[in-house]
Amino acid sequence: MAAYKMYIGGEWAGAETGFETLNPATEKPIAYFPSGDAGHVDMAVGAARDALPKWSRLPPPKRGIILQKAAEILKSEKERLGRLVSTEMGKVLPEALGDVQEAIDTFEYFAAEGRRLYGNTTTSELRDKFCMTIRRPVGVVGLITPWNFPTAIPAWKLAPALICGNTVVFKPSSDTPLCAYEILKVLIRAGVPPGVVNFVTGPASSVGEAIVKHPGIEGLSFTGSKATGEWITKNAGLKKVGLELGGKNPIIVMDDAKLDLAVEGILWGAFGTTGQRCTATSRVIAHRKIKQKLLSALVTKARMLRLGPGIEKTSDVGPLINKAAQEKVNKYVGIGIAEGAKLLCGGNKPAGKGFFFKPTIFDGVTPDMRIAREEIFGPVLSVLEFDRLDDAIDIANSVEYGLSSSIYTGDVNNAFKAIERIEAGITYVNSSTIGAEVHLPFGGVKGTGHTREAGILGLDEFSNTKTVYVDYSGKLQKAQIDSD
Ligand code: NDP
Repeated sequence: MAAYKMYIGGEWAGAETGFETLNPATEKPIAYFPSGDAGHVDMAVGAARDALPKWSRLPPPKRGIILQKAAEILKSEKERLGRLVSTEMGKVLPEALGDVQEAIDTFEYFAAEGRRLYGNTTTSELRDKFCMTIRRPVGVVGLITPWNFPTAIPAWKLAPALICGNTVVFKPSSDTPLCAYEILKVLIRAGVPPGVVNFVTGPASSVGEAIVKHPGIEGLSFTGSKATGEWITKNAGLKKVGLELGGKNPIIVMDDAKLDLAVEGILWGAFGTTGQRCTATSRVIAHRKIKQKLLSALVTKARMLRLGPGIEKTSDVGPLINKAAQEKVNKYVGIGIAEGAKLLCGGNKPAGKGFFFKPTIFDGVTPDMRIAREEIFGPVLSVLEFDRLDDAIDIANSVEYGLSSSIYTGDVNNAFKAIERIEAGITYVNSSTIGAEVHLPFGGVKGTGHTREAGILGLDEFSNTKTVYVDYSGKLQKAQIDSD
């Protein structure tokens, strides 16, 4: 098994102890990484601080050339990296290749931002005075990423951070450090100078917490669980913090919907990536008139999904990320049964190695049940029913999260009511809850956090707006006081 290192100030660095990353389909170790600590974080922050003046003064189009080069390298390595994503994280190969494609798209998108990074110009209330806003880097930023999109999410954070002129301390998930390491290697090959991106691996309790609390870090960008997001909010001091937390994403199916289309979208949203997406479909809110028909199609097709290692062409659904995730999903199945929901299919793990879990559907779920409210992050779908669209929207809104949402309907009036009233950062019409594109903003409301990543708004997380007034009147002019 290959052993890897951290990367601090342009040098490879080890640590006294380390940890293994596993293939979740076979439970076999695939790589060994150092367990860094607060001292490594401190060194990384120092290196990032030293690199900041030069990097932040490099003209953004030149930073963009480096990001474009990273995109080109990723393209040439897409197949190999896709297989790695599938091996280390578990998702099926087409999705793993999509993960890498999202990283490519993100680097390309933000490379082009190097020639924009727009601010605004506007008028002044005084004569001979010019007003504008410009973007400035935040400074040294800490990036803490999860495992479910092990190349795409690092890219979502690294690309905008770098194009805005920040330097970075990057801690990947301890479940997928190898995918993150490959992204780091791509950036080094593309020409990111030493100290600009520092890579520190190791546990949340040492590396993660040290990043959150370090006084030399000005900005933090985190994707992961709500509990960790809340902890970060309490411990990050006055840093600029971006949080991308969980979801409990609903699909509303009206009685006028195309049911075949809805079935396909629900299966893709609920069981794609084995339900381990923050935008995964975890609730179906179905009109009473069509619920039975919808359910029987869903159950029939869910039972046909083939579980297996993501890397194999015959697999439709890969494993969960680790044993703890498998136990968590199993626990929620028990909670659902105890709450009185009706288990229609799945509900357990298959025999044999790997952290697999069968696609699971519960009927008879009511909005107060825990399986209707809490993020399970696995292949478990709760089905609820309604008679009026207003009630469906109330059910959709009755959870603490607000990330993605969807409505299947043939009536444009229903679609616009849902767009307006569902409390979520994203609403799809006649499409599943998953499938973000990198040039549109991504993020939520309520317990999901309020940050927007990707798209133009993704720049706001990694830049501070400076307001500039240029007075060319040659005299002292007083805003709000001078009347002429
Ligand atoms: P966590 O929130 O625990 O971990 C995500 C990242 O944060 C990892 O890099 C982790 O490090 C790090 N981290 C954890 N605690 C801290 C801390 N106190 N300070 C700094 N960094 C920290 O998520 P998990 O991976 O444990 O997954 C658990 C649940 O989180 C899932 O079941 C799901 O509900 C949710 N989740 C949501 C995601 C989303 O896309 N919104 C993505 C992943 C998970 P390390 O890996 O070393 O522990």
